[in-house]
Amino acid sequence: MVILKTPAEIDAMKEAGRLSAKALRVVGEAVRPGISTLELDALAEEVIRSEGGIPAFKGYGGFPGTICASVNEEVVHGIPSAKVILQPGDIISIDTGAIVDGWVGDNAQTFPVGKISPDKKRLLEVTEQSMWAGIGAARPGNHLGDIGFAIQSVAEAAGYSVVREYTGHGVGRDMHEEPSVFNFGRKHTGLELCEGMVLAIEPMVNMGKRKVRSMPDGWLVCTRDGKPSAHFEKTIAITADGPIVLTQE
Ligand code: MG
Repeated sequence: MVILKTPAEIDAMKEAGRLSAKALRVVGEAVRPGISTLELDALAEEVIRSEGGIPAFKGYGGFPGTICASVNEEVVHGIPSAKVILQPGDIISIDTGAIVDGWVGDNAQTFPVGKISPDKKRLLEVTEQSMWAGIGAARPGNHLGDIGFAIQSVAEAAGYSVVREYTGHGVGRDMHEEPSVFNFGRKHTGLELCEGMVLAIEPMVNMGKRKVRSMPDGWLVCTRDGKPSAHFEKTIAITADGPIVLTQE
């Protein structure tokens, strides 16, 4: 069941969105060669708790971190670790979520570590563009398939592939509500979008082939071909006038 939000509820969700975005920004600013993903995790937790928020991922299904930190060929759900030290030329996907007043915000971004190769830079640019294309399609009267189509079109036009096993989702008092928001699809198919839907739109785009595999820790997901992957995400609300981004400062 899709839980629609009233305009007042959407307003209330902006605070969780703002804090999620702040945590992501602060952690992104701290990304540099030599820092561990566990240090980034501690920073995110400090930012979220300092403003009275609760890390949304910590303890979710047993996940131990405040952030998901996924480097290079790691797609999503990397567990922060003191052993993972960022190196120049890496890319790191960071996902942060905060709960404020019972509402959840969820967002992600892939950051460069120092100077990165032109092909990695392009992967980041295209993945972000695909996210914005998906957000642009999130308006009343469109369908879920229009979001997926928009994302897939941008990613595949650039020669990349879209991960199919993981999707965006509804967001509310739970981090993962219905519907699943696929990052591929056909126009005018699927659930019709309407005012009051709050969705996390989050393409995962691979430089190589789309296939992924789960790693033995039960969380980490990597590309099968070992090529890099990027992930951008924002939580948005669909209003009569179109989408508004909730995960922004
Ligand atoms: Mg999400």
